[in-house]
Amino acid sequence: MANGVYAGVIIDQAHPMVDRIFHYRIPETLQQKIKIGMRVQVPFGIANKLMEGYVFQIDSNTDIPDEKIKPINKILDNYPAIPESMLPLITWMKEEYRCLTIEAVRCVIPPGLRSNVRKKTLRIVYLNDVGNLEESINSIEKRSSYMADILRLLADNDGLLLDELRAATGAPLSSFKNLEKHGLVRIEHQEVYRDPWKYEYDIGKQPKTLTKEQLKAINEIQQTIGKRYERFLLQGVTGSGKTEVYIHAAQKALELNKQVIVMVPEIALTPQTVERFKNHFGQQVAIMHSRLSLGERFDEWRRIQSRQASIVVGARSAVFAPVERLGLIIIDEAHEDSYKSDMKPRYHAIDVAKKRCELEDAVLLLGTATPSVSDHYKARTGEYKCIYIKHRVDNKPLPPVEVVDMRKEIEKGNRSILSGSLYRALSDVLNKQEQAILLLNRRGYANFVSCRSCGFVLKCRNCDISLTYHAYDRMLKCHYCGHSYSYPSLCPKCKSRYIKHFGIGTQRAEEDLKKLFPDARIVRMDMDTTSGKGAHERILRSFREGEYDFLLGTQMIAKGLDFPRVTLVGVLAADTALNLPDYRSCEKTFQLITQVSGRTGRGERGGKVIIQSYQPHHYAIQFASEHDYFGFYDKEIRIRRRFNYPPFSHIIRILVLGETEDQLIKLIKDSENWIRQRIDQSQVLKQGLIDMGAYPAPIEKIKRNYRWQILIRIKTDAIFKQAYHHLLDECLEMFTDIQETVIIDFCPISLL
Ligand code: ADP
Ligand code: ZN
Ligand code: ZN
Repeated sequence: MANGVYAGVIIDQAHPMVDRIFHYRIPETLQQKIKIGMRVQVPFGIANKLMEGYVFQIDSNTDIPDEKIKPINKILDNYPAIPESMLPLITWMKEEYRCLTIEAVRCVIPPGLRSNVRKKTLRIVYLNDVGNLEESINSIEKRSSYMADILRLLADNDGLLLDELRAATGAPLSSFKNLEKHGLVRIEHQEVYRDPWKYEYDIGKQPKTLTKEQLKAINEIQQTIGKRYERFLLQGVTGSGKTEVYIHAAQKALELNKQVIVMVPEIALTPQTVERFKNHFGQQVAIMHSRLSLGERFDEWRRIQSRQASIVVGARSAVFAPVERLGLIIIDEAHEDSYKSDMKPRYHAIDVAKKRCELEDAVLLLGTATPSVSDHYKARTGEYKCIYIKHRVDNKPLPPVEVVDMRKEIEKGNRSILSGSLYRALSDVLNKQEQAILLLNRRGYANFVSCRSCGFVLKCRNCDISLTYHAYDRMLKCHYCGHSYSYPSLCPKCKSRYIKHFGIGTQRAEEDLKKLFPDARIVRMDMDTTSGKGAHERILRSFREGEYDFLLGTQMIAKGLDFPRVTLVGVLAADTALNLPDYRSCEKTFQLITQVSGRTGRGERGGKVIIQSYQPHHYAIQFASEHDYFGFYDKEIRIRRRFNYPPFSHIIRILVLGETEDQLIKLIKDSENWIRQRIDQSQVLKQGLIDMGAYPAPIEKIKRNYRWQILIRIKTDAIFKQAYHHLLDECLEMFTDIQETVIIDFCPISLL
């Protein structure tokens, strides 16, 4: 057995061949400095190429003979890039999402670390105590007037920024070096952090008298913080003051010397939530999100890691914030899809947060007015403690909702995007100088087929899922069971010829609106108008400040906004998402309508909602218009149970992309057969299977790539999940050398 101290290192290279711990000797000079989680440089392979890696363990002995073990070359940072407390989380992610260890590591380390973002430092010049300054100045004057000038300035105010001194005197850098050499001044480097939060919202600071429901919620949550692992679902209607509950819960954690992570769907879309935390906790708040520059992100990471910031507010990736004394994770608008990562490892931030709280004895608090059916089911079955807030603050009523039947508009000869009712309401808003939000749901862009005359939507007989039109063979297909149907020329229900695929864009909607209201000031918010940095904030801010009358946008305008002057919300086409070939389409429609409705009626002037629909009697639209979450849930959960959708099943999606369609189809069919054979050979796999099939993805082609997928539905028991995870590992191995791209998702939230 060898002597000395040894480190187990994960090499920073994403390849299955190196996905294990490699052992290195720690040279004596590094033994005092090295810590678990640190980034190191090591010689690797036969050629001893220098590579980066992360220390996962430190041992006092090893089985490897001394002559075979190489020394660590150097330590790359003076702090651990991975907090030691997070190593178990990395191990869990590797298991749960079948990713490489290094892929999980890369979620956790500071952004910008690998691209060598520099710390930003300021150089500050101080006078040393040299007795008679006057004399020194005089004697140095003979050699350089620059140096004398610098000393004169410092004599009046000691401790000046080097850059400012240079600007003021015009002195070159060498003057400062010389002064330092003569012992007259010293130059100190001070690390400064870039402040990423530049958008100030004036949201008022006056203390609020909490409502009874808020108090009750706060009490219950505060009691558990710092004591044990606990999960809460705070289900409060829109405008019920959930943010106030979050702030009090966070306050309690800070009092116990714990740190807090607050997650919002997307920072740019929820500036007000961030601002409230900033207002309350000031400099203790760090911001983490992907639109910051790498330098800004790195600095915020360091502020958290060095415990200068105790509250981290951020989007999805904030779940990996390097807090070492985690007390609480808050997830606002917990129903949002943006918490699911679309890159490998395809984690869901709620699942990661849950695991992290469990590993670190912290409290998880999910907040939303419209929990996913699966989350609410978990609350009913005891996995979450559910806290309800059923009333808005000040007992303001939820806004009345009118559902307009667009089929009748067509009958009346109105082919515009606005019903008579919504047109009149918008005119009214203009006259009274109030504001309106108009939502156009882009998620309906997939090719579902519906009848413009009666609203009928073609669905699969076996699955209760709308059919998708596929251009490649001109057939309608079900994506769950694979059944095909031919395209009807007449509506099967009303025999009209107005049966076709559906969809209208925001840009066209804006043009139409401008024609109808030439005097209105309209601002559009969608992917096209928000690509630049800060674009979201600018649009939202100018709308809030009254520069526009109408805000027209995609679902990005439905989130957490609180605008008192908005008295009307219009939903232009509520149906679009309803007909996506996805078991969650009803849930998402219900959530979207409820959320966007919640943006009005918040001020003194009240407010109302108008929903335009071709299926006005659909239960998702009906329950949303009555603000009836429980009614919706009861209906939806029965459908999920009957057709075996989550939470009653677990879906695994294998998506394959390739440029040659024939080759892709062959690959998919071969893989499907292979998987079927394996299932037939194993009792456990067979028992766990509900069904599987291979189909073209609803969006058949993106950027020259054809897309096909295999969907496997299995029973939810852990043993089946594990068995299928192993099967897919084998499957992935098989895929290693193919041209096509394979994406395996163990918790897909979209099947498009
Ligand atoms: P939610 O997130 O539940 O939709 P918010 O947290 O955005 O609701 O709160 C809605 C509005 O009510 C905000 O303007 C907030 O400042 C205000 N508010 C919150 N709690 C109270 C209270 N107890 N009294 C008065 N106003 C409150
Ligand atoms: Zn019809
Ligand atoms: Zn089907």
